[in-house]
Amino acid sequence: MNRRQPSRSIFNTVRFLPLVSLWLSCAFLPAAAAQSCGAQGVAVQVLGSGGPELQDKRAMSSYLVWENGQARVLIDAGGGSALRFGESGAQMSQLDVILFTHFHVDHSGDFAALIKSSWFEDRKRPLPIYGPPGNGFMPSTTEFASDFFGPKRGVYRYLSELFAPGEVGSYKMQPHVVVASSTPVNVLRTGALAISAVRVLHGAIPSLAWRIEAGGKVIVFSGDTNGEGAGLTRLAMNADLFVAHNAVPEGATGLERRLHMPPSVIGQIAGDAHVKHLVLSHRMLRTLGKEDQTQLEISKRYSGTVTFANDLDCFPLK
Ligand SMILES: [Zn+2]
Repeated sequence: MNRRQPSRSIFNTVRFLPLVSLWLSCAFLPAAAAQSCGAQGVAVQVLGSGGPELQDKRAMSSYLVWENGQARVLIDAGGGSALRFGESGAQMSQLDVILFTHFHVDHSGDFAALIKSSWFEDRKRPLPIYGPPGNGFMPSTTEFASDFFGPKRGVYRYLSELFAPGEVGSYKMQPHVVVASSTPVNVLRTGALAISAVRVLHGAIPSLAWRIEAGGKVIVFSGDTNGEGAGLTRLAMNADLFVAHNAVPEGATGLERRLHMPPSVIGQIAGDAHVKHLVLSHRMLRTLGKEDQTQLEISKRYSGTVTFANDLDCFPLK
Protein backbone atom coordinates (compact mmCIF):
# COMPACT_ATOMS: atom_id res chain seq x y z
CA MET A 1 0.00 0.00 0.00
CA ASN A 2 1.93 3.05 -1.22
CA ARG A 3 1.06 6.38 0.27
CA ARG A 4 1.70 8.22 -2.94
CA GLN A 5 0.89 6.50 -6.20
CA PRO A 6 3.42 6.79 -9.04
CA SER A 7 2.21 8.98 -11.88
CA ARG A 8 0.32 7.10 -14.46
CA SER A 9 1.97 6.35 -17.79
CA ILE A 10 -0.80 8.20 -19.63
CA PHE A 11 0.84 11.44 -18.54
CA ASN A 12 3.97 10.43 -20.40
CA THR A 13 2.13 9.73 -23.62
CA VAL A 14 2.47 12.75 -25.90
CA ARG A 15 -0.63 12.08 -27.98
CA PHE A 16 -2.88 12.37 -24.90
CA LEU A 17 -1.42 15.67 -23.72
CA PRO A 18 -4.04 17.99 -25.27
CA LEU A 19 -6.82 15.92 -23.70
CA VAL A 20 -5.01 15.78 -20.38
CA SER A 21 -4.44 19.51 -20.22
CA LEU A 22 -8.10 20.16 -21.08
CA TRP A 23 -9.14 17.75 -18.32
CA LEU A 24 -6.78 19.39 -15.84
CA SER A 25 -8.05 22.89 -16.54
CA CYS A 26 -11.68 21.75 -16.15
CA ALA A 27 -10.97 19.67 -13.06
CA PHE A 28 -9.26 22.46 -11.17
CA LEU A 29 -11.74 25.23 -11.87
CA PRO A 30 -14.46 24.34 -9.31
CA ALA A 31 -11.96 23.50 -6.58
CA ALA A 32 -10.13 26.78 -7.06
CA ALA A 33 -13.41 28.69 -6.83
CA ALA A 34 -14.58 26.84 -3.72
CA GLN A 35 -11.24 27.25 -2.00
CA SER A 36 -11.86 30.98 -1.66
CA CYS A 37 -14.23 30.27 1.25
CA GLY A 38 -12.63 31.53 4.43
CA ALA A 39 -9.47 32.80 2.74
CA GLN A 40 -9.67 35.89 4.96
CA GLY A 41 -11.33 36.03 8.35
CA VAL A 42 -13.85 33.47 9.58
CA ALA A 43 -16.38 31.66 7.38
CA VAL A 44 -18.71 28.69 7.62
CA GLN A 45 -18.94 26.36 4.66
CA VAL A 46 -21.82 23.94 4.28
CA LEU A 47 -20.45 20.60 3.10
CA GLY A 48 -23.76 18.77 3.41
CA SER A 49 -27.13 20.55 3.42
CA GLY A 50 -29.33 17.47 3.14
CA GLY A 51 -30.78 14.73 5.30
CA PRO A 52 -30.55 10.95 5.04
CA GLU A 53 -32.51 10.62 1.77
CA LEU A 54 -30.23 10.32 -1.25
CA GLN A 55 -33.02 11.64 -3.48
CA ASP A 56 -32.57 15.12 -2.01
CA LYS A 57 -29.38 15.17 -4.13
CA ARG A 58 -27.48 16.77 -1.28
CA ALA A 59 -24.67 15.50 0.89
CA MET A 60 -25.74 14.68 4.44
CA SER A 61 -24.98 16.92 7.40
CA SER A 62 -21.48 18.41 7.62
CA TYR A 63 -19.94 21.86 8.09
CA LEU A 64 -16.52 23.46 8.08
CA VAL A 65 -15.36 26.52 9.99
CA TRP A 66 -12.61 28.26 8.05
CA GLU A 67 -10.25 30.90 9.40
CA ASN A 68 -7.72 32.71 7.22
CA GLY A 69 -7.51 29.92 4.67
CA GLN A 70 -7.36 27.07 7.20
CA ALA A 71 -10.19 24.58 7.67
CA ARG A 72 -10.11 24.53 11.47
CA VAL A 73 -13.24 22.75 12.70
CA LEU A 74 -15.32 20.01 11.06
CA ILE A 75 -18.81 19.53 12.48
CA ASP A 76 -20.32 16.14 11.57
CA ALA A 77 -19.46 13.98 8.58
CA GLY A 78 -22.65 12.60 7.08
CA GLY A 79 -22.77 10.44 3.96
CA GLY A 80 -21.53 12.23 0.84
CA SER A 81 -19.79 14.97 2.79
CA ALA A 82 -16.29 13.54 2.30
CA LEU A 83 -16.57 14.33 -1.41
CA ARG A 84 -17.69 17.87 -0.57
CA PHE A 85 -14.77 18.16 1.86
CA GLY A 86 -12.43 17.49 -1.06
CA GLU A 87 -14.32 19.87 -3.31
CA SER A 88 -14.05 22.62 -0.70
CA GLY A 89 -10.27 22.52 -1.00
CA ALA A 90 -9.86 21.63 2.68
CA GLN A 91 -7.27 19.16 3.91
CA MET A 92 -7.59 16.86 6.89
CA SER A 93 -4.16 17.96 8.11
CA GLN A 94 -5.53 21.50 8.60
CA LEU A 95 -8.20 20.50 11.12
CA ASP A 96 -7.79 21.49 14.76
CA VAL A 97 -10.74 19.36 15.83
CA ILE A 98 -13.72 17.27 14.67
CA LEU A 99 -17.03 17.70 16.53
CA PHE A 100 -19.95 15.29 16.30
CA THR A 101 -23.50 16.24 17.21
CA HIS A 102 -24.56 12.56 17.28
CA PHE A 103 -23.90 9.33 15.44
CA HIS A 104 -26.84 8.84 13.12
CA VAL A 105 -25.55 7.83 9.67
CA ASP A 106 -26.50 11.18 8.16
CA HIS A 107 -24.06 12.84 10.61
CA SER A 108 -21.22 10.36 10.77
CA GLY A 109 -21.31 8.00 7.76
CA ASP A 110 -18.24 9.46 5.98
CA PHE A 111 -15.99 9.58 9.04
CA ALA A 112 -13.90 6.59 7.99
CA ALA A 113 -13.50 7.95 4.45
CA LEU A 114 -12.14 11.24 5.81
CA ILE A 115 -9.72 9.46 8.14
CA LYS A 116 -8.50 7.22 5.33
CA SER A 117 -7.87 10.28 3.16
CA SER A 118 -5.90 11.90 5.99
CA TRP A 119 -3.50 8.96 5.89
CA PHE A 120 -2.13 10.31 2.60
CA GLU A 121 -1.45 13.71 4.17
CA ASP A 122 1.45 14.77 6.30
CA ARG A 123 -0.36 15.39 9.57
CA LYS A 124 2.02 15.58 12.53
CA ARG A 125 -0.23 16.53 15.46
CA PRO A 126 -3.02 14.55 17.15
CA LEU A 127 -6.59 14.98 15.90
CA PRO A 128 -9.02 15.61 18.77
CA ILE A 129 -12.57 14.36 18.22
CA TYR A 130 -15.40 15.41 20.56
CA GLY A 131 -18.92 14.08 20.68
CA PRO A 132 -21.69 12.73 22.89
CA PRO A 133 -21.70 9.83 25.36
CA GLY A 134 -23.31 6.55 24.40
CA ASN A 135 -26.39 4.61 25.48
CA GLY A 136 -28.22 1.45 24.42
CA PHE A 137 -28.82 2.86 20.92
CA MET A 138 -25.54 4.55 20.19
CA PRO A 139 -21.82 4.16 20.92
CA SER A 140 -20.01 6.84 22.85
CA THR A 141 -17.55 8.99 20.88
CA THR A 142 -14.61 6.87 22.05
CA GLU A 143 -16.46 3.67 21.17
CA PHE A 144 -17.41 5.10 17.79
CA ALA A 145 -13.74 5.73 16.92
CA SER A 146 -12.55 2.39 18.29
CA ASP A 147 -15.37 0.48 16.54
CA PHE A 148 -13.81 1.70 13.29
CA PHE A 149 -10.09 1.78 14.05
CA GLY A 150 -9.45 -0.20 17.25
CA PRO A 151 -6.59 -2.69 16.73
CA LYS A 152 -8.51 -5.80 17.84
CA ARG A 153 -12.16 -5.45 16.88
CA GLY A 154 -12.26 -2.34 14.69
CA VAL A 155 -13.97 -2.70 11.31
CA TYR A 156 -10.97 -0.95 9.75
CA ARG A 157 -8.33 -2.31 12.11
CA TYR A 158 -5.89 -2.30 9.20
CA LEU A 159 -5.69 1.46 9.95
CA SER A 160 -5.25 1.06 13.72
CA GLU A 161 -1.98 3.02 13.64
CA LEU A 162 -4.21 6.12 13.42
CA PHE A 163 -5.87 5.18 16.70
CA ALA A 164 -3.77 2.93 18.95
CA PRO A 165 -1.34 4.95 21.14
CA GLY A 166 1.45 2.34 21.00
CA GLU A 167 1.55 1.95 17.23
CA VAL A 168 4.08 4.03 15.31
CA GLY A 169 3.69 5.39 11.81
CA SER A 170 1.09 8.13 11.88
CA TYR A 171 -0.65 10.83 13.87
CA LYS A 172 -3.30 9.69 16.37
CA MET A 173 -6.94 10.59 16.62
CA GLN A 174 -7.94 11.44 20.19
CA PRO A 175 -11.65 10.86 20.86
CA HIS A 176 -13.32 12.48 23.90
CA VAL A 177 -16.79 12.14 25.36
CA VAL A 178 -18.57 15.38 26.23
CA VAL A 179 -21.06 15.09 29.05
CA ALA A 180 -23.18 18.21 28.71
CA SER A 181 -26.38 19.63 30.18
CA SER A 182 -28.71 22.47 29.28
CA THR A 183 -26.09 24.90 30.58
CA PRO A 184 -23.23 25.45 28.10
CA VAL A 185 -20.06 23.61 29.07
CA ASN A 186 -16.60 24.68 27.86
CA VAL A 187 -15.04 21.87 25.84
CA LEU A 188 -11.94 23.25 24.19
CA ARG A 189 -9.92 26.46 24.12
CA THR A 190 -6.85 26.79 21.94
CA GLY A 191 -5.56 30.20 20.98
CA ALA A 192 -8.45 32.25 19.62
CA LEU A 193 -10.71 29.17 19.28
CA ALA A 194 -13.25 28.44 22.02
CA ILE A 195 -15.78 25.62 21.79
CA SER A 196 -18.72 24.86 24.06
CA ALA A 197 -21.72 22.54 23.94
CA VAL A 198 -25.14 21.80 25.37
CA ARG A 199 -27.09 18.57 25.41
CA VAL A 200 -30.13 18.68 23.12
CA LEU A 201 -33.13 16.39 22.84
CA HIS A 202 -33.25 14.16 19.72
CA GLY A 203 -35.44 11.23 20.70
CA ALA A 204 -33.38 8.66 22.60
CA ILE A 205 -30.15 9.56 20.80
CA PRO A 206 -27.48 11.33 22.89
CA SER A 207 -27.00 14.62 21.02
CA LEU A 208 -25.08 17.87 21.34
CA ALA A 209 -25.36 21.36 19.90
CA TRP A 210 -22.06 23.20 19.39
CA ARG A 211 -20.92 26.80 19.78
CA ILE A 212 -17.65 27.86 18.17
CA GLU A 213 -15.99 31.18 18.83
CA ALA A 214 -13.21 31.95 16.35
CA GLY A 215 -11.62 35.23 15.34
CA GLY A 216 -14.14 37.14 17.47
CA LYS A 217 -17.13 35.52 15.68
CA VAL A 218 -19.70 33.13 17.14
CA ILE A 219 -21.19 30.24 15.19
CA VAL A 220 -23.75 27.81 16.62
CA PHE A 221 -24.84 24.48 15.17
CA SER A 222 -28.12 23.05 16.46
CA GLY A 223 -27.49 19.52 15.22
CA ASP A 224 -30.67 17.45 15.22
CA THR A 225 -33.08 18.29 18.02
CA ASN A 226 -36.77 18.82 18.67
CA GLY A 227 -35.88 22.15 20.28
CA GLU A 228 -37.23 21.33 23.76
CA GLY A 229 -35.57 22.92 26.76
CA ALA A 230 -33.62 26.15 27.17
CA GLY A 231 -30.14 24.85 26.33
CA LEU A 232 -30.04 25.64 22.63
CA THR A 233 -31.30 29.20 23.15
CA ARG A 234 -28.61 29.76 25.78
CA LEU A 235 -25.93 28.35 23.52
CA ALA A 236 -27.05 30.40 20.51
CA MET A 237 -27.23 33.71 22.42
CA ASN A 238 -26.05 36.60 20.20
CA ALA A 239 -24.50 34.24 17.63
CA ASP A 240 -23.31 35.76 14.38
CA LEU A 241 -24.47 32.65 12.53
CA PHE A 242 -26.93 29.99 13.71
CA VAL A 243 -27.15 26.84 11.59
CA ALA A 244 -30.45 25.12 12.41
CA HIS A 245 -31.87 21.93 10.98
CA ASN A 246 -34.98 22.28 8.84
CA ALA A 247 -35.85 18.57 8.83
CA VAL A 248 -39.63 18.81 9.32
CA PRO A 249 -42.32 21.21 8.09
CA GLU A 250 -44.72 23.14 10.27
CA GLY A 251 -47.46 20.84 11.58
CA ALA A 252 -45.26 17.74 11.80
CA THR A 253 -46.47 15.22 14.38
CA GLY A 254 -45.49 11.87 15.87
CA LEU A 255 -41.92 10.59 15.59
CA GLU A 256 -40.89 13.36 13.16
CA ARG A 257 -41.84 16.01 15.70
CA ARG A 258 -40.31 14.12 18.61
CA LEU A 259 -36.98 14.16 16.73
CA HIS A 260 -36.97 17.54 14.99
CA MET A 261 -37.98 21.17 15.43
CA PRO A 262 -40.53 22.72 13.07
CA PRO A 263 -39.96 26.23 11.65
CA SER A 264 -41.95 27.93 14.44
CA VAL A 265 -39.60 26.47 17.05
CA ILE A 266 -36.50 27.38 15.02
CA GLY A 267 -37.84 30.93 14.71
CA GLN A 268 -38.56 31.14 18.44
CA ILE A 269 -35.03 30.04 19.36
CA ALA A 270 -33.37 32.32 16.77
CA GLY A 271 -35.50 35.24 17.98
CA ASP A 272 -34.99 34.64 21.70
CA ALA A 273 -31.25 34.22 21.17
CA HIS A 274 -31.00 37.38 18.99
CA VAL A 275 -28.88 35.63 16.37
CA LYS A 276 -27.75 37.79 13.48
CA HIS A 277 -28.13 35.28 10.66
CA LEU A 278 -30.12 32.04 10.56
CA VAL A 279 -29.05 29.35 8.08
CA LEU A 280 -31.47 26.48 7.49
CA SER A 281 -29.86 23.19 6.58
CA HIS A 282 -30.54 19.41 6.86
CA ARG A 283 -33.18 20.02 4.20
CA MET A 284 -35.22 16.93 3.46
CA LEU A 285 -37.82 15.87 0.88
CA ARG A 286 -40.53 16.80 3.39
CA THR A 287 -39.25 20.40 3.72
CA LEU A 288 -37.81 21.06 0.25
CA GLY A 289 -40.37 23.05 -1.75
CA LYS A 290 -41.96 24.43 1.42
CA GLU A 291 -39.48 27.31 1.83
CA ASP A 292 -42.16 30.04 1.64
CA GLN A 293 -44.23 28.45 4.42
CA THR A 294 -41.07 27.85 6.47
CA GLN A 295 -39.91 31.44 6.04
CA LEU A 296 -43.36 32.75 7.00
CA GLU A 297 -43.47 30.73 10.24
CA ILE A 298 -39.96 31.84 11.15
CA SER A 299 -40.64 35.51 10.38
CA LYS A 300 -43.43 35.55 13.01
CA ARG A 301 -40.78 35.08 15.70
CA TYR A 302 -37.46 36.17 14.17
CA SER A 303 -36.73 39.28 12.14
CA GLY A 304 -33.07 38.70 11.18
CA THR A 305 -31.64 37.29 7.97
CA VAL A 306 -32.73 33.77 6.92
CA THR A 307 -30.91 31.72 4.29
CA PHE A 308 -31.66 28.20 3.02
CA ALA A 309 -28.38 26.30 2.70
CA ASN A 310 -27.07 24.41 -0.30
CA ASP A 311 -23.97 22.20 -0.50
CA LEU A 312 -20.70 24.15 -0.58
CA ASP A 313 -22.39 27.47 0.33
CA CYS A 314 -19.92 29.76 2.05
CA PHE A 315 -20.92 32.24 4.74
CA PRO A 316 -18.16 34.76 5.53
CA LEU A 317 -18.62 36.46 8.91
CA LYS A 318 -17.93 40.14 8.63
ZN1 LIG B 1 -29.90 14.10 10.90
